[in-house]
Amino acid sequence: MNTADIRQRWLTFFADKGHTVVPSASLVSDDPTLLFTVAGMVPFIPYLTGLVPAPYPRATSVQKCIRTLDIEEVGKTTRHGTFFQMNGNFSFGDYFKEQAIRYAWELLVTPEADGGLGFDEKDLWVTVYEDDDEAIEYWKKTAGLPDERIQRLGMDSNYWSTGQPGPAGPCSEIFFDRGPAYGREGGPAADDDRYIEIWNLVFMQYLRGEGTGKNDFEILGDLPSRNIDTGMGLERVAFLKQGVENLYEIDQVRPVLDTASLISGRRYGADHEDDIRMRVVADHVRSALMLMSDGVTPSNEGRGYILRRLLRRSVRSMRLLGVDTAVFPELFPASRDAMKAAYPEVETDFDRISRTAYAEEESFLRTLSGGINILDLAVNSAKDKGAKTLAGDTAFQLHDTYGFPIDLTMEMAEEAGLAVDRVAFESLMSEQKQRAKADSKAKKLGITDLGVYSQFRAIGETTFLGYDELVTESKIL
Ligand code: ATP
Ligand code: MG
Ligand code: MG
Ligand code: MG
Repeated sequence: MNTADIRQRWLTFFADKGHTVVPSASLVSDDPTLLFTVAGMVPFIPYLTGLVPAPYPRATSVQKCIRTLDIEEVGKTTRHGTFFQMNGNFSFGDYFKEQAIRYAWELLVTPEADGGLGFDEKDLWVTVYEDDDEAIEYWKKTAGLPDERIQRLGMDSNYWSTGQPGPAGPCSEIFFDRGPAYGREGGPAADDDRYIEIWNLVFMQYLRGEGTGKNDFEILGDLPSRNIDTGMGLERVAFLKQGVENLYEIDQVRPVLDTASLISGRRYGADHEDDIRMRVVADHVRSALMLMSDGVTPSNEGRGYILRRLLRRSVRSMRLLGVDTAVFPELFPASRDAMKAAYPEVETDFDRISRTAYAEEESFLRTLSGGINILDLAVNSAKDKGAKTLAGDTAFQLHDTYGFPIDLTMEMAEEAGLAVDRVAFESLMSEQKQRAKADSKAKKLGITDLGVYSQFRAIGETTFLGYDELVTESKIL
């Protein structure tokens, strides 16, 4: 089943059950408090919170999502993309828990020949919030799931809220067991690589009060109308149904990975570290393509910086695969061709997108070639001395003279097994700031960069971009 087929099965199934099919919203969320659309429910937030009456009682979508929080997982786990598509079905005060469970089960186990996803029910496990006896009863009654494939988990993993007073409720997640070759027995709670999370069903039924953590708030009462919000990872289902090992090998992603392998002359599957790099390239190029098709351009702040980071990481991963010439002119067309059936705009806008991507690569390669020798020398001499850190003045020089942002230096040092002496770096930066204050001409020398990059570190470290907490960017910045 290719990804387009799974997507269509999803939409047809829920349309047949009276759901209005709503096209994907942009990756750039309308919600000014969010950097990107991080889940299928984001465009429906006003209806789910009751701020605006929903124009339909039930809806379904396949929503483009970006989760920068998952960037470190990419290529290392089997299941995290920075870009992915979330299939969702939503009820706004219409059906609730029992029906949501019934629909999910029906779609999962109906044979492929009859329009379903054709999972073998023996491979499916669920988790429920520990006190949600109702959900357990429905999983047993409707799905006929045996006790041993239902796991009760705590608030940390199976309770949803926005992190603020407002709607909240338990959730129930569905997992696919890849079998003993992939890890330990014992269900999703024991091994998240063997048991792959595919679908999260959120039952919004309570009103929560104040409280800062994920589980230190009070439940004030019932919501006037109960809602359903679900999210299934399209790429995850695709990788399981396509019989490949991870989501970087599905039809929409693999061609980019193969191109990276071809350009570098490294065979996929031959070396663990190289494989990770090829998967990172495949993921990041696709995410960048999709972001640019939604109008994001590389810059030093906000969304544009995330895009810049994805592009630069792709280039650096290719360098680690031994290629130091421009690679985007081959990688981007490969990604375009894999995505254009689902998103024709990546083809119609390709001139604009590719021009921006190629120019960004050229400029980054220039930056790299300016500073790379300095960095390599410093790394080698640190290693010769048995040091574990790269000196702060090297990081400062790279920043000041060659335009290396500190996070780039840190990532490259880390690849060589070194940390960066941040304290010394920051103190050189603040000395420079003082000098710049005294001398307005010195202002041009890169002080603006510091503010920008530290802002980004804040985003990278603190933004949670999952279902659990929709922390607002504005609070962080
Ligand atoms: P995980 O625990 O695997 O990181 P999650 O619990 O963060 O997933 P949810 O926030 O529950 O994910 O999102 C709903 C569904 O979206 C998940 O069940 C999964 O199928 C899919 N999904 C979430 N994050 C990603 C991602 N980075 N790449 C691909 N699919 C994802
Ligand atoms: Mg999870
Ligand atoms: Mg989840
Ligand atoms: Mg996650």
